[in-house]
Amino acid sequence: MLDLHGRTIRYLRLSVTDLCNYRCTYCMTEDGVPKRAHSDILSIEELAEIGAAAVRCGVNKIRLTGGEPLVRHGVLTLCERLSALHGLDELALTTNGALLGTMARDLRSAGVRRLNISLDTLRPARFRAITRRGELADVLGGIDAAKAAGFTDIKLNTVLLGGINDDEIQDFAALTRDEDVCVRFIELMPMGVCAAFPKERFLSADAVLHALPALESVGGEGVAELYRLPGHRGTVGLIRPLSHGFCAQCDRLRVTADGKLKPCLHSGEEISLRGLHGPALDAALRSGAAAKPACHHLTQGGTETLRGMFQIGG
Ligand code: SAM
Ligand code: SF4
Repeated sequence: MLDLHGRTIRYLRLSVTDLCNYRCTYCMTEDGVPKRAHSDILSIEELAEIGAAAVRCGVNKIRLTGGEPLVRHGVLTLCERLSALHGLDELALTTNGALLGTMARDLRSAGVRRLNISLDTLRPARFRAITRRGELADVLGGIDAAKAAGFTDIKLNTVLLGGINDDEIQDFAALTRDEDVCVRFIELMPMGVCAAFPKERFLSADAVLHALPALESVGGEGVAELYRLPGHRGTVGLIRPLSHGFCAQCDRLRVTADGKLKPCLHSGEEISLRGLHGPALDAALRSGAAAKPACHHLTQGGTETLRGMFQIGG
């Protein structure tokens, strides 16, 4: 699929639920997700149908996200259906890692090939405070289980929270010394609950370059700029939607768990996919690609979406 700005759209992020077993302070309120009727959320059948249509339209990479995708009943069946699609090169998943200890092996068998695991701190008490209910040991165990199940090139996603975890930049970078892991620092985007956070929480990823002056640039991968510390096996990535826009390279579409196609993470535009099948579904996906704006306006007036990140999937 081509958009109107010369970009080829090959990547679909499919949110399979907006529910989550954590309540990260920057993503959700303590009460969690407002209850919805079961029928408001796409069924596994509908999710598989949308994935198949996207691949027919030229998508070659699908990432499952949420909410927390691993709390979705039927997610393994969905992975099996999607990974069997002819034309799909990569099925990936973004998770908070809490359930990987029991699910990593089954995810691998169901065809998931890449994992991004979110981890904002390496300190147990801080982890509990940020996630409001998580245990760091579960995630660390989940990462080990993922490696044991055969996942390589695991990416750890760390949202930079000024005054909360920016004193751990060096500790995270140390994880790259002996392991072929990519630790990616992500700038906090002002949306949903965190839009009301004080200014000091929003840290430019330059903080990482200051904390790690020995970093050497080794290129880029998708939206991340990659660096390496001399002699380290793994890499450090910076994802900076605020300070260094990467919209010119954006090749993605997003579908929310309630069946709305979002041409851009930060635009308010949504196209309903529910009830569409076959050529009508393909046409809706193509119109979503055509509706992609040239760039977001985060730094000039803020996000235009009313959704929180857990309702989009990142
Ligand atoms: N629950 C899964 C997880 O946490 O990995 C998948 C969904 S979560 C919404 C996807 C990613 O978005 C996570 O890495 C999370 O830290 C990140 N995220 C959430 N809110 C954000 C925000 N306001 N700015 C930047 N990243 C955010
Ligand atoms: Fe859940 Fe992920 Fe949001 Fe944390 S960032 S509350 S794990 S959806």
